[in-house]
Parts: sequence; C-alpha cells; structure tokens
Amino acid sequence: MHSIDHIYIDGAFVVPHGDERFDLFNPATEERIGTVRLADADDARLAIAAAKRAFATFSRTTVDERIALLQRMHDAVVAREDDLFEAVRLEYGAPVSRGSWMTKHASSVFLDAIATLRDYAFERRMGTATVVMQPVGVAGLITPWNSNAGFICGKLAAAIAAGCTAVIKPSEMSALQTKIVTEALHAAGAPAGVFNIVTGRGDVVGAAIVSSPDVAKVSFTGSTAVGKGIVRAGADTMKRVTLELGGKSPSIVLDDADFAKAVPLAVAAGFNNSGQACIAGSRILVPRARLAEFEALAKDVVNAVVSGDPADQATTVGPMVSAKQWERVQGFIRKGMEEGARLLAGGEGRPDGHTRGWLVRPTLFTDVSNDMTIAREEIFGPVLSIIAYDDEEDAIAIANDTPYGLQAYVHSTDGARALRVASRIDAGRVLINTLSHEPKAPFGGFKQSGQGREYGVFGLEAYLEPKAILGA
Ligand code: NAD
Repeated sequence: MHSIDHIYIDGAFVVPHGDERFDLFNPATEERIGTVRLADADDARLAIAAAKRAFATFSRTTVDERIALLQRMHDAVVAREDDLFEAVRLEYGAPVSRGSWMTKHASSVFLDAIATLRDYAFERRMGTATVVMQPVGVAGLITPWNSNAGFICGKLAAAIAAGCTAVIKPSEMSALQTKIVTEALHAAGAPAGVFNIVTGRGDVVGAAIVSSPDVAKVSFTGSTAVGKGIVRAGADTMKRVTLELGGKSPSIVLDDADFAKAVPLAVAAGFNNSGQACIAGSRILVPRARLAEFEALAKDVVNAVVSGDPADQATTVGPMVSAKQWERVQGFIRKGMEEGARLLAGGEGRPDGHTRGWLVRPTLFTDVSNDMTIAREEIFGPVLSIIAYDDEEDAIAIANDTPYGLQAYVHSTDGARALRVASRIDAGRVLINTLSHEPKAPFGGFKQSGQGREYGVFGLEAYLEPKAILGA
C-alpha cells in the first residue's frame, strides 16, 4: 500500500498543510493501492511565494546554465525510467508499449527543450528597436491524468528554458508518477523554488494558482470545460494562458487510400492511449462508395485488438483510469445505440473473459451521422465512429463540423491531394498517412481545443514576453 505524504516546496519535501486523503486505484484490478495526502490553498500560496523568490535570480540565468539544468533533469528522469514505467502501469493501466513511450517521453522533452533553446535568439533587431524576449514570470502548470509525468516534464522544460520558475499542480489521480518525477527532478539539483509540486484538488490548489496575482502564466492540459473556467478565473489578473484541451479528431480516408494501410492506421489513431487521448482519431470519415469494403476490414482489425491486462504484451488497450470514466464510456456506447448507430464491433460491458478491471470492449460504430452524440462529444475511451461522406467537399465539411480542432488525419495515395485536403482542415496538426509526433513543431488546438501552442519555438515563446527597447 502506497502512502504519499509529501509535496515539494522551495527545494524540500514537506508535509502539506492540507490533510485530506485521496485514494489511488489500480484500474486493471479496481483495487485500492494507496492514498495521497492532498495540498490545500495555503500550500499553493507557499509554493507560489517560493517560485516568486526564485524567479528574481533564475530569470537572469544564462542559456548555458539553463541547458545544463535541463540536461541534469533529463538524466535524472532517465535514471528513474523503470520506476516510472511501473507507476504508469500500476496507477494508470498503460499497456506495455504505451507505458514505455510515456516513460521515454517524460525524459526526452528535456532534450527537445535544449535543442530549441540552443538556436533561439532572445534578442533581435527590428527596425530601430532591439526586441528582447523576457521570461514572463512564475508559471502555473496544471496536468491531466492521461499523461501526467509527460506533461509535468514537458511544461516544466519549456518554462525553465525560458527562465521562468514554476508551481506544478499534477493530477491528483497520478500521485505515484508525480512522486517519482519529483524525486528525480530534486536529484537534478535545481536552485530552491525553481520548481514546486503541489498535488491537490483542481478546484482548491488549481484554483489558487489560477487566481494568484503572483502567477503570470498558466499552462493547462485538461478538459475544455475546466479550461474555460481557467480563462474566466484568470481574467482578473490578466493571466497569460496556454490551454491544451479536448478533441474529436477526424481521420479522413480519401477514396484513393490504400485500405490495407489506412484501416489499421485509422483504428490505431482512435485507440491511441487506450482511447484516453485528446488526439484520438475518433471520427473515421469514409467514402460512401467504398464504405462496405472499409467496414469489413475495420471490423476485423477492431475485433483483433486486445483490451486487457496492461502487463500482458498482447494488450494494446488498457483499462479506463477510473470507475467514473468507465461508466461514462459505457454511457456513450448506450447512447450510440439509442441514437441509431450500428455496432460493428464491441459494445457495452467488459471484454470476454474479464470480470474486473475498468476494461472496455474496443468498439466500432458505423451508420453514424455527424450530429449524433458519439460524433460530437469527446468520449475518451476506445469507441470509434465511421461516418460516410459523398465527395471530398463533403468530407472536409464534416471534418470541420465540430467545436474542436486539435488534430486530424488524412489517408491517401495521392500526396498533392492529401496536402490540399490538409490545408482546408481547421486543426493544429494534420497527419498524412502517419501517426508520428514531431517535437520541434507546434502542438495545440484551433477552436475549443485550446489556445496557444506547446513544443518547439512556439512552446518556448509561450513563456516569454517581447520587450522593445528604442533609442539604444
Ligand atoms: P480535467 O480538466 O478534469 O483536469 C485537468 C487538471 O485540471 C487536473 O489536474 C485537475 O485537478 C485540474 N483542475 C480541475 N478543476 C480545476 C480548476 N477549477 N482550476 C484549476 N485546475 C483544475 O481533465 P482530466 O479529466 O484530468 O483529463 C482529461 C481531459 O484532458 C480530456 O478532456 C482531454 O482531452 C484533455 N487532454 C488534452 C490534451 C491536449 O494536449 N490537448 C492532452 C491530454 C488530455
């Protein structure tokens, strides 16, 4: 049984002032695996004060000093890779392949930040002015449970690269990962107060960060509903915000696509991170003329997906993170059937042979229209919808007919045509015949998928304010 009793403020592990205990579960077994003692608003205030003190000197560090710190942080997280992998499996239920990606991602983001920082011009001449990019101040970093370690490290790496100090509010459901990451980052020897980690409730610790006049910027990854609340609550202190929110990403299968490649890619895009991914390609747009062909292939691919024990190498879809999330996904499957969608694979309940664990049957609907609930709302589980379209214009219109705009996928054997379609999709990223990630390129959403960008130069500049100096 794990008992996590410390938060991290001003370079030290301390017992929080808050005394509420929050239960941690293994989603694969539904067993309680421990508790975490949650911080409260007083703890948040202490953490913000420490970050504010540290900012006075850290904001004046050289690029070389910050690169050295980022390198030490990278090395320290690599040194805890095995522990982190185990935590991601135990408290999140990530299958082996996903768990190892998540673990490596948590360290590689420091190297990505170093690469960006090395080439970045903090000072440039514009007309008669010298423009200096200045760190914005204390950054509040708020993470979700579906990639907690990766978001702690990614947001912190960008903040540090810019010369900002940070108060991190991780997901309260990911306390094992947070503990390991905190210990690793502590071992990297940052000056006291440069980063502070206060695990607590969103509406308590998160809200205290968002409303604090001493926090200049908030970088938040989570649901669109909470993101909107953060914009409202941050308005009084004119917070700079970066919001990475939800999605309802389309996979557009063009009529010239090679289905032998496109079908497995479209299914994998939808079941990415057990479906608990903001970038999940949950709407698959298929040409009506080739619908039956696509349905037959996709049904077989989905039926072959193993949803089960995350420790089993064959598993690619793990359990949902919580009972609440499991119930929510079941509700969407029911709703899909009520609204007239036709089940091709999966359905309600657990996969065959499983009586416990928050496991969902990998589910594929067809005959879905874009106004059905399952096509409009982010399900955050392994539930995909095939939507038929008539021609390219219709496909583009359906793809863009969503309040979201985080990511889109295009499948085609004609490169020029795929690019033409990509140019008309309102999304922060469009992936053509691939599921790859590019950390040098910006990541973030159009419309209600967010505001601002992370990664690369755009991600760094999210923590900088331009200052123009004239007459010198
Ligand atoms: P959530 O919005 O419930 O919580 C996210 C974080 O915000 C948690 O740490 C939570 O404690 C905190 N929070 C809650 N209320 C708050 C408040 N009032 N003030 C400040 N902080 C508050 O989201 P979740 O359920 O943890 O994560 C799932 C959501 O995250 C999905 O909608 C998913 O699409 C989104 N997500 C987006 C991206 C992206 O990059 N766009 C990546 C991963 C997840």
